[in-house]
Amino acid sequence: RKSVVRITTGSQALDELLGGGIETLCITEAFGEFRSGKTQLAHTLCVSTQLPIHMHGGNGKVAYIDTEGTFRPERIVPIAERFGMDANAVLDNIIYARAYTYEHQYNLLLGLAAKMAEEPFRLLIVDSVIALFRVDFSGRGELAERQQKLAQMLSRLTKIAEEFNVAVYITNQVIADPGGGMFISDPKKPAGGHVLAHAATIRLMLRKGKGEQRVCKIFDAPNLPEGEAVFQVTSGGIMD
Ligand code: ATP
Ligand code: MG
Repeated sequence: RKSVVRITTGSQALDELLGGGIETLCITEAFGEFRSGKTQLAHTLCVSTQLPIHMHGGNGKVAYIDTEGTFRPERIVPIAERFGMDANAVLDNIIYARAYTYEHQYNLLLGLAAKMAEEPFRLLIVDSVIALFRVDFSGRGELAERQQKLAQMLSRLTKIAEEFNVAVYITNQVIADPGGGMFISDPKKPAGGHVLAHAATIRLMLRKGKGEQRVCKIFDAPNLPEGEAVFQVTSGGIMD
């Protein structure tokens, strides 16, 4: 039986909210409006995953699937320095791939699984998990097929998490809630419907606070108490 590893987010408040950090063996989803910090959290995790276990890292490599072209290797450098790590070594341990279609995204996962069988990975990022599905199945009659393909992709991610003891961190978009009505103050919900709700074990809702402040709320997680954490987005990554 594999034992769960918890990887620090860089913020003590956020780690405490999560019961120690982002967990291996399951999928953690972050959703929220633009600039709420989903991608910056991904960048920080790229570095913290490589920290030794006693420093709340995962002592492993990182796989990054980027569907929006927003990964910035130069952003990794100050984050690595903040954690006292060699930036080039950190970058060498991030296997990066840009995906251009949902099929491409799926095929990249198959290739990664082969790599993970040979090398010790501890984190897989898919930023964003749903963007390409929303482009590739944009027609009105295509929702059922989209959800079916999305379910396939997510079950792959779950399998990778469990087989290789990897933390899977996915980002998701928010959409207008058609059932929200005009008097609901925040008529937004995560995209992906029941399929994504079912696959993601820990669902985090991010929102902007004052300045560089961001707020993370537990949206759904079976073993975590409800609550919020405030953190900052800085050039050194996520911190308190
Ligand atoms: P989107 O939905 O557009 O993908 P996001 O949730 O991924 O948005 P991020 O890209 O993580 O949002 O951006 C969060 C914040 O990080 C933004 O306010 C941005 O200005 C800030 N940011 C980006 N780069 C830096 C940096 N080098 N130093 C400090 N803050 C930065
Ligand atoms: Mg982003």
